[in-house]
Amino acid sequence: KMEKMQMAHEEKILVLVRLRPLSEKEIVGNEVADWECINDTTILYRNTLREGSTFPSAYTFDRVFRGDCSTKQVYEDGAKSIALSVVGGVNTSIFAYGQTSSGKTYTMTGITEHTVADIFDYIHRHEERAFVLKFSAIEIYNESIRDLLGNDNASLRLLDDPEKGTIVEKVTEETLKDWNHLKELLSICEAQRRIGETLLNDKSSRSHQIIRLTIESSAREFLGKENSTTLSASVNFIDLAGSERASQALSTGARLKEGCHINRSLLTLSTVIRKLSKGRHGHINYRDSKLTRLLQPCLGGNARTAIICTLSPARSHVEQTRNTLLFACCAK
Ligand code: ADP
Ligand code: MG
Repeated sequence: KMEKMQMAHEEKILVLVRLRPLSEKEIVGNEVADWECINDTTILYRNTLREGSTFPSAYTFDRVFRGDCSTKQVYEDGAKSIALSVVGGVNTSIFAYGQTSSGKTYTMTGITEHTVADIFDYIHRHEERAFVLKFSAIEIYNESIRDLLGNDNASLRLLDDPEKGTIVEKVTEETLKDWNHLKELLSICEAQRRIGETLLNDKSSRSHQIIRLTIESSAREFLGKENSTTLSASVNFIDLAGSERASQALSTGARLKEGCHINRSLLTLSTVIRKLSKGRHGHINYRDSKLTRLLQPCLGGNARTAIICTLSPARSHVEQTRNTLLFACCAK
């Protein structure tokens, strides 16, 4: 029985909340911060103007991070244990969810870098095994997949591979050599995302970026021999489209239709996550969107998942902040 309880705990989606500080611009514009982390697990809404008229509302999660916490702290105390389980052969996904400008990209970039640094460290400490670390990066925009390391803008297809599951056909996979190589690839991805942005106004708030690291390893003593087995697993870093899209769609009750402005991948992900958090049985609609189809092996079953919900403390953003917290509550 104990074993079962332990499992249930491990299978749970880890939900982290990160509050960013007010930006210079917001401070100059006399913006007020209404949200405060009162301890490691609780965030509180405190609007001094409304005191007396509304109760302060508190939300509790696995862990909340204040505006002055570094990304290193968010990594060490939050995402690290999940991200690094990939070296043991476990598929994992780390998501950043939140409205545009709440800090998703800022957080995800840092988390990716810290994870890779720790993976390289692990590789160096385990010379008895031979490792290959592969890096790929795609963007999903309007249910169309683009290779962020590719030479053209072609839309890539998803294929069902009998061995590997759902894969992106013809996606560029770079074998990661060292830290500098990672920095180089990350800056290529960033530049690629920006190119698209100048062509389409609010593209960055509507597209998802998925960076996938795949680690393959085998024991050196069996290399090249018949009984040699390869351990393979992926960790995915997902910088999601701005959550304002999903909440707009949900609040107007609009339905998913081809060609409308609603983000199918984001909505389907919300549904999938809500179902997973209630227990991983019954039908889960992974195939309803590109994002969930691709991530299916890294979401259900033995996979481990963390969601970092990023928040703006600003009074003018309160509605979106509440929507993000409601999503976060559904996920835990
Ligand atoms: P998003 O990807 O959610 O649209 P960004 O990550 O681009 O948001 O963040 C918006 C701005 O706020 C950027 O200039 C970023 O550097 C800054 N920022 C975000 N989070 C933090 C933080 N925790 N501490 C300091 N600056 C932050
Ligand atoms: Mg961003």
